[in-house]
Amino acid sequence: MSDTTQLIRYSVITEKNPREIVLLRGNGCKWRRCCFCDYHLDFDLNPQLNFQLNSAVLDQVTGQFKHLEVINSGSFSDLDKDTMNQIKNICVNKGITHLYFECHWMDRHHIQALKNEFQSLGVNVQIKGGVETFDMEYRESVFSKGIDTDNPLEIAAYYDQICLLFGVAGQTLSSMEQDLETGLKYFNRVCINIMVENSTKIKPDQQVISIFMDKIYPKYINNPRVDILINNTDFGVGGKNE
Ligand code: SF4
Repeated sequence: MSDTTQLIRYSVITEKNPREIVLLRGNGCKWRRCCFCDYHLDFDLNPQLNFQLNSAVLDQVTGQFKHLEVINSGSFSDLDKDTMNQIKNICVNKGITHLYFECHWMDRHHIQALKNEFQSLGVNVQIKGGVETFDMEYRESVFSKGIDTDNPLEIAAYYDQICLLFGVAGQTLSSMEQDLETGLKYFNRVCINIMVENSTKIKPDQQVISIFMDKIYPKYINNPRVDILINNTDFGVGGKNE
């Protein structure tokens, strides 16, 4: 993700938990160390420029499903104040009742205040976190994710939904199934991302992906609590405008 100026930033997800989704830009992920990620390159340190871009994206929200997912590289707390105010206005004016944000573990202590703020407007906020796997040793040695607990209950104290990353060397049928079942046990929803080629040194492992596609995908594809992104642009955002 070297050039982020042409990214598609608004889309509509019509299957499972139908919602609108916007890819906004903040001042950048403060962790920036996940080995598989080049998504953190989508940032700008100028809050006015970010607001200008975000405002045009948010103007496309219609409120058709009353659910809105807001993503940006890093955490919701990396978005500027004007953008957050516009999100609040849109929730009120377009009748959004459920709002989904992303948050890195390092920013988890900001979550409750955010939930309270939106609750006072009648909006239920749910937080999505990239856990990638519940195997802490693998997660931290291979992915460098920066989550210092192996206890799903501790993670669930902050997060409502989690993302898992599958398709990387070292993962097995049982490790992936265990991650998925743990995710479904402790969280409302699970989003599986399959590793795709990007500019990082972590490469997709085709053998692991085949195991996933043969044995796991058919079992979970119709589960309404599981989103599966074979390509990271499957939600309709993050790809390039032609
Ligand atoms: S927290 Fe998210 S944006 Fe930041 S480096 Fe990790 S995956 Fe990338």
